[in-house]
Amino acid sequence: MALSHTNTPEIIPDHGMLDSGTLINLADQYKTPLYVYDGDQILENFKAFQKAVSNLESKVHFAVKANSSVAILSLLSTAGAGADIVSGGELQRALNANINPDKIIFSGVGKTDNELLLAMHHGVGQINIESGAELDRIAALAASNNFECSIALRINVDVDPGSHEKISTGQNSTKFGIALTNGQAESYYERISSYPNLTPSGLAVHIGSQLTNLAPFETAYNELVGFAEHLRGKGFAVPYLDLGGGFGIDYEGITHPDFTKYGKMVERIFKNKGFKLGFEPGRSIVGNCGNLVTKVIYVKQGIDKRFVIIDAAMNDLIRPTLYDAFHRIDSLTERGGDTGNADIVGPICETGDYLARNRHMPFVEAGDYLAVRSVGAYGAVMMSNYNTRPEASEVLCYEGMVHLIRPRRTIEDLIKMEINPFL
Ligand SMILES: *Cc1c(COP(=O)(O)O)cnc(C)c1O
Repeated sequence: MALSHTNTPEIIPDHGMLDSGTLINLADQYKTPLYVYDGDQILENFKAFQKAVSNLESKVHFAVKANSSVAILSLLSTAGAGADIVSGGELQRALNANINPDKIIFSGVGKTDNELLLAMHHGVGQINIESGAELDRIAALAASNNFECSIALRINVDVDPGSHEKISTGQNSTKFGIALTNGQAESYYERISSYPNLTPSGLAVHIGSQLTNLAPFETAYNELVGFAEHLRGKGFAVPYLDLGGGFGIDYEGITHPDFTKYGKMVERIFKNKGFKLGFEPGRSIVGNCGNLVTKVIYVKQGIDKRFVIIDAAMNDLIRPTLYDAFHRIDSLTERGGDTGNADIVGPICETGDYLARNRHMPFVEAGDYLAVRSVGAYGAVMMSNYNTRPEASEVLCYEGMVHLIRPRRTIEDLIKMEINPFL
């Protein structure tokens, strides 16, 4: 079966299920390493999230940093998704995907003047402030440029999300949010109203990513609602609470997230309290919907270890190196037998360049394709050109069609922006 570009789409049988045969065909056509996304499943996950929180007045903003492909953002926007962004670049992507600016929330600890001005110029719905310095800066920029802006405070509730250190944001030891304990949050909230161009819209919390337990969410949300009610008691308007993202996914299996328990917990805490709610899921919407298809280059027998050397590397998927993350890896060619335990490594000249270590693998040979599973979130967005390797290309399968959403750049493309003063 020949599959083709968006402009001449053909039908994939069994769409919505990227079976081995489909992945092999795509790899043959688009070459490896290749990200393949299941757009139907992405939409299904997003709608399941919306449904889980639909008993409360709520808006769901997809966290763009998890997967910032304009095509995927555009697909999500058809289901009503807003965007949670953390840079001017992500703002541009959300706008390119036709997401209405009033459905965009701007988060992050280090927004620059240019980014804040751009956000206010486009009229983003809300800017989440993370420090007193940022609050004063945005007030000055809004006043001197005649912009009006809704401001929420991101608070730090000092909760350990029980996730990997590098993706935990809920504790006071991290750079995120404004502490509740020393009165800062309350005084900043009061200060928002003192600036004529700023309107306080509420509070935000986001305690970390890949949370696999509901308890830390519950603790954080109880703190949040307690503080919001305290502010109300003092006469402040707190219309809106932004509950962040962080819902973890199953990296061992290939199951999709079930948001029902999370939705019930949120309902228990917030029902009839009179807050509008916002959510910012990222990983849980796209994580399980991506495969990284890669080809075995060599199988190398070392002294006491076997290495499966593949054409994808840490520049294509850095999560195992950066977060000790586990990704399931399946061979797409069934040969029977097994290779025993092996390290699955890329061609990059770093010992840290591996996608799995001591992984029990079926028998594989040079030329076989492997699928690295659940790479839809924090995968392609973190690609680099280390070792002058062009990024993997990306294709999106949706409603039986294959869309090439990011062609591989040529090596010439990678080098041409450089300036050689000696030639
Ligand atoms: C990263 C991030 C998210 C998304 O987190 P996930 O774990 O991908 O759901 C949401 N909100 C903020 C502020 C973030 O920084």
